[in-house]
Amino acid sequence: MKVKCPTCGAEAEYSPANPYRPFCSERCRLIDLGAWANDEYRIEGEPGSAASMNPEDYETAQREAMMRAMEKRAKRR
Ligand SMILES: [Zn+2]
Repeated sequence: MKVKCPTCGAEAEYSPANPYRPFCSERCRLIDLGAWANDEYRIEGEPGSAASMNPEDYETAQREAMMRAMEKRAKRR
C-alpha cells in the first residue's frame, strides 16, 4: 500500500518493510516528530508514568503512541 509522506508528499510504502512509515525516510519522520512536539504523541497512561520507565520502554511506548496518532490522523482524511 502506498501513502503520501506527510512531510514531503512523496510516495512512501506503508508496510512493515518501511520502518519509517507513513514517511518516506527517517529524515521526514524526524522532521514531522519535531514539528508536532508532544501534542499528539502523548503517551497514554498516568501522568508522570513515563519517568519511571526505563529508556527502552519509554522509546517503545512513544513509538506506539506515535503510530496510533498517525493512524487516527490518516483515518480523518
Ligand atoms: Zn518524505
